[in-house]
Amino acid sequence: MIIIAFFGAVVFLYNKVNNHYVDLGEDASPPMKLHPIVEKKKDKLLEKTASIGIDVVITEKWRSNERQNKLYAQGRTENGNIVTHAEGGESYHNYGLAIDYAIRNENDTIIWNISYDGNNNGEKDWFEVAEIAKDLGFEWGGDWRNFKDYPHLQMDFGLSISQLQSGLRPTNEDKKEE
Ligand SMILES: [Zn+2]
Repeated sequence: MIIIAFFGAVVFLYNKVNNHYVDLGEDASPPMKLHPIVEKKKDKLLEKTASIGIDVVITEKWRSNERQNKLYAQGRTENGNIVTHAEGGESYHNYGLAIDYAIRNENDTIIWNISYDGNNNGEKDWFEVAEIAKDLGFEWGGDWRNFKDYPHLQMDFGLSISQLQSGLRPTNEDKKEE
């Protein structure tokens, strides 16, 4: 716990020193669209996956708190399966820092079958997409231990949900950009 807190503090200070975020205060409204860097990386992801014969569909980008609350109700107070553990304001989607993907198969149908190998290279397309996304800097929900969120990709820019809730926002500059 202390180690995690320590690394958290280091990342926080690093970002502060390098001005990787701005503080808009806790009354700040959500961005209502994808962060420009996430947008760019999403396009790169589509490009790279298309080049190996995988037709990736982005099913979700920025998400309003209202919609997040509706999703949260699913499987709890409403019918359906639980699809999220985040309420409004608790998801990186709410800050334009996450996307969800699915795959379009040869019948033009959008599928969530993580075992599908449409490009016939002996590897599951879903995981190929995840690997490419991770190379681009995304964190993949399929790597989460407790609640696996296979379609989910996010970039937190070193900011926790509570920091985002308090008004911190990553800036638009990508220092690692080539
Ligand atoms: Zn998601």
